[in-house]
Order: sequence, then structure tokens, then C-alpha cells
Amino acid sequence: MNSTDSIKQKGDRSFAHRLLVWYGKTARKMPWRIPPHDHHQGIRADPYHVWLSEVMLQQTQVITVKDYFLKFISKWPTVFDLAASNEEDVLKAWAGLGYYSRARNLKKCADVIVSQYNGKFPQSFEELKALPGIGDYTASAIASIAFDQPVSVIDGNVERVISRHYRIKTYFPDAKPEVKEILKQISDKGKPGEFAQATMDLGATICTPKHPACSLCPVNEDCFGFKNADAELFPHKKPKAIKPTRKGAAFLITNTKGQAFLSKRPDKGLLASMTQIPTTNWNSRQDGSTDTSEAPILANWERAGIAKHTFTHFHLELAVWRIANINSVHSKGWWCDIKNLDEEALPTVMKKAIYIGLSS
Ligand code: SF4
Repeated sequence: MNSTDSIKQKGDRSFAHRLLVWYGKTARKMPWRIPPHDHHQGIRADPYHVWLSEVMLQQTQVITVKDYFLKFISKWPTVFDLAASNEEDVLKAWAGLGYYSRARNLKKCADVIVSQYNGKFPQSFEELKALPGIGDYTASAIASIAFDQPVSVIDGNVERVISRHYRIKTYFPDAKPEVKEILKQISDKGKPGEFAQATMDLGATICTPKHPACSLCPVNEDCFGFKNADAELFPHKKPKAIKPTRKGAAFLITNTKGQAFLSKRPDKGLLASMTQIPTTNWNSRQDGSTDTSEAPILANWERAGIAKHTFTHFHLELAVWRIANINSVHSKGWWCDIKNLDEEALPTVMKKAIYIGLSS
């Protein structure tokens, strides 16, 4: 019996009903979200807020995103304001969230929404997906949450809930079409946005990766994973490839005015256009030198420690070298007051290296 047959057999239309009743009472409060009660009164989520939050939430926890989201909407309250900003300011405000192509696409997308759509987000999945930086997931989330379009929204939480509920044995990501087909059948067609957010909430708060709280779950009575006491074995995932560890060096130069020397990374490649302290030529495929042979100046460098960081496809270990009281550097870059470093578009790996370089 496949999952689709089992849905028919179980008369699973009530899945949505039970889920939405639970969501009505327990929906998580988020600054970009319209609570179910207000939604029922006809208040709709601002597509600008939904888009911003969904882009930020890719690869990032809700708790971290909240502060960034509030910072962005206070700096750029509308998509017109964001389109009128410059990329460098957006990168600065984004610094620390990682995956910086998202920030560059945010700006590009705002430009298109303003220039081609008069500042109004299109409502259909297809038009949304054609915008810069918007893939299947974000397009379906905006269409469903902001415009109540009947499209399935599938994130990691939804995959987990559905694969456990129906004991989907196919490995992910191959199982995605199966999940999509199930969602088509069990979703609430009248409230697709609420259904999507409710399923995400269930995955985030009850059907958690470890130790799901099945006894509290609103859809436990017909959950196959619960009945078989093996919910935690789902979703089935192919083993992850082992990430290589790359090495390199970073150089912290400070002057007598309490400033650090910074430079801009190339416009293309990893961490493109972000700010850095000078560093050697490492990337996901190759190591850079770890000694001072490629340092920006000849000096009596002191080794301060190692900054470790994990990117999507590799781990990085940067040997951090430092030198103080240098007032002139003959390479492209600028001096920044150490107390103002937070205002620079420094990715997390560079913040770690600077922190180590400044520690005694
Ligand atoms: Fe997840 Fe347990 Fe609910 Fe099934 S009963 S959906 S496994 S929390």
C-alpha cells in the first residue's frame, strides 16, 4: 500500500482540521506573521514581510532571524525603501546571517518588484519564482502565506511531519514529489497559508528531529510513525558526504589610532563583495598558505590562534596572524575603528578571526 492509498483508506481529510484547530490555539508569534485569529478577521500578511523572513529563514533559525528581520524593516520599511538602498548597506545589515548571495539577491529582487511591478509583489507561484533569488520553496511560501494560493509549501519541518505520519520509505530528496502529492490531498484548500504555517509549527515544536512529543500531537491518532513507534527513523536521508577541512591564514593589522585594516573580497566567488581582513587564497576546493609568506606586509607577525568555521561544503581553519602599530599598508583597503567593526559587512568567519586577533 502506498502513501496515497493509505490517505484514501484513512479518510485523512480531518488531518487539516485537527492541525488547524491546534494551530489556532498555539501558533508561534513571529513579527512577520499574522496570528490565525486576525487572519480570520481578514487581515493578511504583508508579502514584503513574508518574503524577507522566508529568505532569512533559509538555513537560519527563527530566533536569529527575528532580530535581523526587525532591523531590516526598521531600516527599510517597504520594498521601495529597500530598492532605493545600496547593496553595500544591505550586505552590512545582513552580516552574520551567512549565505551572502541571499542578501545580494534581496536587493536585486526589490529592484525588480519596484521597476516591473510598481512595488506590488506578484501573487502567482510562477511569477514569484521568476524573481531573483526566489526558488520553489520561497515562491510557494509567499504565494500561500501572503496570498492564500493553494500551493504546497515544503520545508524541512514539513518533510519530517509528513514522512513520519505516512512512514515514507523513499530517501530524501527523492521523496519530495511523494510529500507534495500527499500535501495536495490533505491540505485545507480554503486556508493554504495557515495549513502551511501550522505544519511548519508542528515540525518545529512537537514533531521535532529528536524525541517528538507524539502524545501532545494533534494528528497522532492516525500517525503511522507513532503507531509503529519508529517515528524518529524518518525522514530517511542519504548519508551526507564528509566535508573536507580547508586551511588558510588571515592577517590582522592594527595601527596606533585603534583601527584595523580591512579590504573587500572579490565580486565573485565565496563571500563575494564582503569585507575581510587580508587572507590567503583558500576556497572550497583548495587550501591557502597558512604561514606569513602571503601576508600583505613584511613584518614580525605574531601567531594569535586558529579561527574555525564551517561552510556548506567544507570546514575552514584559518591561522590568525597579527601585527600592531603599523600605520601604512600598501594594498587596497581601508582603516576602520575597532569599536565600529560591527558596522562593516564582515562575515562570521572574519569576525571570528578578528576576535582571535584582538584577544590577548
Ligand atoms: Fe510527528 Fe509524532 Fe505527530 Fe506523528 S504523532 S506527526 S511522529 S509528532
